[in-house]
Amino acid sequence: MRCRRCKGPAVIEVRRHNAAFCRDCFVHHVREQVRRAIEAFDMFGPRDRILVAVSGGKDSLALWDVLLDLGYDAGGLYVGLGIGAYSARSAEFVRTFAAERGAELLEVDLAEEFGFDIPTAGRKGSRSPCSVCGLSKRYVFNRAALEHGYDVIATGHNLDDEAATLLGNTLRWQTDYIARQFPVLPSEEGLLRKVKPLYRLSELETAGYAFLRGIDYVVEECPLVAGNTQLRYKEAMNHLEATSPGTKAQFFLSFLERGAPLFARQDAVDLRPCERCGQPTTGRFCAFCRARAQVLGERLGDPAAAPTDREVAANVSEEVLPAEIYGGGAEGLA
Ligand code: SF4
Ligand code: ZN
Repeated sequence: MRCRRCKGPAVIEVRRHNAAFCRDCFVHHVREQVRRAIEAFDMFGPRDRILVAVSGGKDSLALWDVLLDLGYDAGGLYVGLGIGAYSARSAEFVRTFAAERGAELLEVDLAEEFGFDIPTAGRKGSRSPCSVCGLSKRYVFNRAALEHGYDVIATGHNLDDEAATLLGNTLRWQTDYIARQFPVLPSEEGLLRKVKPLYRLSELETAGYAFLRGIDYVVEECPLVAGNTQLRYKEAMNHLEATSPGTKAQFFLSFLERGAPLFARQDAVDLRPCERCGQPTTGRFCAFCRARAQVLGERLGDPAAAPTDREVAANVSEEVLPAEIYGGGAEGLA
């Protein structure tokens, strides 16, 4: 196999592009894909401060690495989920990466800051661990980014993640989620812009990049991943991809081009500050504060005040709170 770009010996094959690359040209290819993604959706400019949500896994560390190499002012945010040895190891990889690159790293420990960890929340609350994990991460990302003066939040969602999420949302025709499944979510009152610069790269490509760049990352899966429904959609997409390479890219990239405009959001939601924490929400209390109160056995608000229809609906079903599943219906990604 020869490298498509320089004709030297290739070290990695990308079937979807029907191409192989040597080490340097593959790194160039990955950077190009990220650069094109940033440009296509006008994700951020050279003066913006970008906060990368890092989990210790290959995608988020690869993203941070590419952004730093492209010359962006990119810091990292690690959320301590309290998932035993898995969390401890993830944190170590993130700290080592940040120290080696001399990049700013923010850390927020859920148990220290908010009094619960994800395994406890999964046992005590009504949500699955992945659901409360995703909700907590989105909440902490937004809050920390605002507090530390960042302009935009970048997450390491790759093409596989996005295709699997789109499949799940489509199977249930969750049109509201589909409408927001875009590589850029613009800022709204109190919510920072969120971007996914890896949406053009498959999981194999980000893994290849991390390996060839010598980035150490946590390889084992989160022990709670069994409950993550997105995993099943990923497996289904992998079956299709194995027999028809390019299916994932066609499904998701064609959606962006031709499908997404058909689902563009019609209804603007009114956001107001959560009465407990001040973060934006559509009800009196944000989903995070409600989930946290449930786990800690606390009562939220004044029991004498009659709840509005919207609040009742919000308590019955979190699905009616589009602003709080800001992130497109996917459960939190490991
Ligand atoms: Fe959180 Fe991912 Fe673990 Fe689920 S699998 S609990 S979303 S880290
Ligand atoms: Zn709140």
